[in-house]
Amino acid sequence: MGLKCCVDSCNSEANSSSIRLHSFPKDDVLCEKWVTALQKDYKFEVKKSHRICSKHFEEQQFTKSTFGNLMLKPGAIPTIFVSAQRSLFKGKFT
Ligand SMILES: [Zn+2]
Repeated sequence: MGLKCCVDSCNSEANSSSIRLHSFPKDDVLCEKWVTALQKDYKFEVKKSHRICSKHFEEQQFTKSTFGNLMLKPGAIPTIFVSAQRSLFKGKFT
């Protein structure tokens, strides 16, 4: 509860079924890339509670798990930081 996307200008919370919140990668190098992508203008320290929502990832960075859930591919980096008007995932995953 209370989890929220940490991207500035994005207010996604975990209470929407279309939004998936991703925790930061455990891999230090990849994690650093995520932080760089966020372009925070202050020293951003990644905490376990930090999440980035699925709106910031391109479709091809997702893969389907054996259970049919969308998961981030290994090495995926958030690249979409426009103010969230775009609706991804309109039934494109068949
Ligand atoms: Zn977000």
